[in-house]
Amino acid sequence: MKGLILRSTGLWYDVLADDNHRYKGRLRGRLRLNNDRVTNPIAVGDKVEIVLEDKDENTVLIEKIDKRTNYINRQSPKKDGFAHTIAANIDQAIVVVTLAMPRTSAGFIDRFLVAAEAFRIPGVLIFNKIDLLSEQELFVQSKMMERYEQIGYKCMAISATEDEDIMKVENILRDKVSLVSGHSGVGKSTLLNRLSPEITQSVQEVSDYTEKGLHTTTFAEMFEIFENTFVIDTPGIKELGLMNMEKAEISHYFPEMRELLNQCKYDNCLHLREPQCAVIAAVESGEIAKSRYNSYLSMMDNDDNRR
Ligand code: GDP
Ligand code: ZN
Repeated sequence: MKGLILRSTGLWYDVLADDNHRYKGRLRGRLRLNNDRVTNPIAVGDKVEIVLEDKDENTVLIEKIDKRTNYINRQSPKKDGFAHTIAANIDQAIVVVTLAMPRTSAGFIDRFLVAAEAFRIPGVLIFNKIDLLSEQELFVQSKMMERYEQIGYKCMAISATEDEDIMKVENILRDKVSLVSGHSGVGKSTLLNRLSPEITQSVQEVSDYTEKGLHTTTFAEMFEIFENTFVIDTPGIKELGLMNMEKAEISHYFPEMRELLNQCKYDNCLHLREPQCAVIAAVESGEIAKSRYNSYLSMMDNDDNRR
């Protein structure tokens, strides 16, 4: 039988099986990790092969993990090279933002989108609290949305307090596995709570024992908010941790820069001050937004984003 991992507590997993039942599952024997620097073999979102173990106890054995389309690793805060897989097989990474208070900065949005690109997950922006915006702010927001849509990110503007808007959000979630993120105060809990009241208490701190020592790790939980529609509530992108990124890699995660890279004069161009740089030329002509380029520069500057 096939199953989907909804929750992990380190030893036991909540598995939603093809027969629509939820089972408690554990690994048969020791499933080999393909990477011994990752502390957990199975993550939320993994698709697995299961066999019934004890019908009365509702338990299954997990025999095999399917190949993942993508996954999110969180580096150990100890910077010891260990990582923990937060979730796998994610269809879209949604960031809830707002131009009302507490206003989301362009830098925050762009760091999130860069992380999503690096993990190969399509990014989606939900601009919340539009009921609080002035005409002028709504205009700024529409320009911003236009810009992100041009790059290829789906955008929508909502009030988490409006039923009609909740339905619009349901439509972009339908039949997908979505990661939902956002900094504190943007209205993420309000939104998730309206979508499904059981989501609220999702992210929990659990101790994850490894042979190398005791790590405290954040486990994500996946919720089926309606049939075949799943949401993973995650802490902010800081907590997810940007993977170790080389300076030269960062422009690859700005889609509007990526398509110009082979037009720079130098193969190793970092698009800072080099002559005949196609990226700088595109910023000067307005083809690439100044705010995006500023986010790029700040990521190039900030050691937290990189090795
Ligand atoms: P979180 O930290 O992102 O989970 O934010 P919350 O969901 O706790 O929301 C923060 C505050 O913003 C709360 O007082 C919410 O009632 C309020 N809020 C959330 N969404 C909206 C919205 O669309 N419009 C308005 N006016 N207030 C909102
Ligand atoms: Zn360049």
